[in-house]
Amino acid sequence: MPEQLPPLAPPARLLLGPGPSMVAPRVYEALRQPIVGHLDPYFFEVVEDIRKLLGYVFSTRNEFNIAISGTGTSGMEAAVGNFVEPGEKFAVLANGYFCDRISDVARRHGAVVVRLEKPWGEAFDDQEARDFLRREKPRVAAYVQAETSAGAFQQGKAICEAAHEVDALVIADCVTSLGGMPVMVDETGIDIAYSCTQKGLSCPSGLAPLTVSPRAWERLRKRTTPVDSFYLDLRLLESYFHDHKYHHTASATMFYALRESLALIAEEGIENRWERHRHNHEAFVAGIEAMGMRMHVAAGHRLWTLNTPRVPDGVDDAKVRQRLLNEYGIEISGGFGPLAGKVFRIGLMGYSSTGENVGKILDALKRAMK
Ligand SMILES: *Cc1c(COP(=O)(O)O)cnc(C)c1O
Repeated sequence: MPEQLPPLAPPARLLLGPGPSMVAPRVYEALRQPIVGHLDPYFFEVVEDIRKLLGYVFSTRNEFNIAISGTGTSGMEAAVGNFVEPGEKFAVLANGYFCDRISDVARRHGAVVVRLEKPWGEAFDDQEARDFLRREKPRVAAYVQAETSAGAFQQGKAICEAAHEVDALVIADCVTSLGGMPVMVDETGIDIAYSCTQKGLSCPSGLAPLTVSPRAWERLRKRTTPVDSFYLDLRLLESYFHDHKYHHTASATMFYALRESLALIAEEGIENRWERHRHNHEAFVAGIEAMGMRMHVAAGHRLWTLNTPRVPDGVDDAKVRQRLLNEYGIEISGGFGPLAGKVFRIGLMGYSSTGENVGKILDALKRAMK
């Protein structure tokens, strides 16, 4: 017999890292509701609510909006694996860690990956994106709208236009933008966008919202080789969520949480929500600059959801983060890869994006760096 454990008592952290973000009380409330079966009529009502609400937060008229059972990476894997076939060319505009992850995923699905590279924290301009895609003529192009490893936002309109000229589909990683910054799927021309639940949507991790344009769905319908993942095959997921045929046992609990988090966004108004994130981000940047620190990403390209102030010379970022956690109960994150030791990564996403939290983190950071 194993020893009896004390009651579960997780510490109450203030989560201001690159995700997970804080969870709203209403979402916690949803998490303790009675579960129903994965084929229960009530479950499919929730699926339908989520479908409509995802259209609203992604700013799209797409009909195919689902939540994949898995974290953001499952959305990435589904987006790549369904739309590229072995031997096809897959172009990545690569300016950070998650661009590298997409490239890796595409190679594992047998694609021939071509990349245009930029230092972490910079964004591609329209002309270089166009030249790259016109030259390579890929089958699929991918970019990360909100690069969480570096803090930069990537505009997508020129990428989508150039990709469509050469009959390529566009995948956009919107994991750190959805619910905090304008994703604008239709206006940008994105064919497949995916996200996660634990960043701008302020749920626990566990689902990956994904939307597919009619153009991309048409391509999928014509696909002749089977998708090399049963679990993430979108045509099978369509038969589950639309035709109510068993495919896997989706978590009713997580679907309730996502429904409530999306309902909170609709009640706040998506534009108001973007404005709240922009406002708190700007207050944070003003505070950082008043402390004599500098932001890694140039103004105009910064994420409102994830800030990357540079670590001042002579400051040990790991020690600062440890003090923030131990003395203030605040979680932030550090840089990695080429930005290891060079930046802090501080998230102000969803329920975490408040003026009060901006004040708390600026104050705690100042003390922890002393
Ligand atoms: C967090 C993140 C992911 C991966 O999401 P997980 O939920 O950790 O699997 C993918 N892309 C970007 C840009 C992210 O920030």
